[in-house]
Amino acid sequence: MCQPSVKYDEGTLQVTLTFDNGPEPDVTDRVLDVLAATGVKATFFVLGAKLADPRRRALAERAHAEGHWIGNHTWSHAEPLGRIAEASRVVSEIVETQALIGGLSHPDRLFRPFGGGGAIGTHLLSPAAVEVLKSERMSCVLWNAVPRDWENPLGWPEVALAQCLQRPWTLLVLHDLPTGAMSRLLVFIDRVREHGGRFRQDFPPECVPIRNGEALLPLEPYVSAAA
Ligand SMILES: [Zn+2]
Repeated sequence: MCQPSVKYDEGTLQVTLTFDNGPEPDVTDRVLDVLAATGVKATFFVLGAKLADPRRRALAERAHAEGHWIGNHTWSHAEPLGRIAEASRVVSEIVETQALIGGLSHPDRLFRPFGGGGAIGTHLLSPAAVEVLKSERMSCVLWNAVPRDWENPLGWPEVALAQCLQRPWTLLVLHDLPTGAMSRLLVFIDRVREHGGRFRQDFPPECVPIRNGEALLPLEPYVSAAA
């Protein structure tokens, strides 16, 4: 998990929501309905392979139109990039997805590596991935809480709330996938607000090691050895 490096106001509970691995019909649209009803803005880290489907792309377009941010979460989501030996494959996972996102992209060209169950480590990026993130002036957005909503589709809100109470500003990874977990999104948002929490769309700086192509934090913890 990325560690806080900045001071926060005491007593504030701040939460940034991100939804990975979509867009997914009958799931992403319900998530968007809940976010609209509660006035929460979030980021959707989409898969290129899904965005190629017009029905799924329409969901990303709706999210963008409603003020959410669209980020890149690789094309195939098959293997963490730090474990892929061929540089050309790593580059195309990022670049082809970004090309398809096109005008839906956040200006900072957000990219979230595939963690494989949410772990942070040197499997996240390869040297080729870092190179392309820098040359394409992209931003790498990690996370500091993974409540594993896919394993615990009904109980994840309590897990997530406990994680949010451990630090002043939580960047939470959820999944707009058909696991049933998103049926509990409204409950979670209500629980955070009952605790005096507020939602914000931007990211804790300690979770963004690369911004617009510039490395702002040491990258060694996230990059595999050169092939
Ligand atoms: Zn993912």
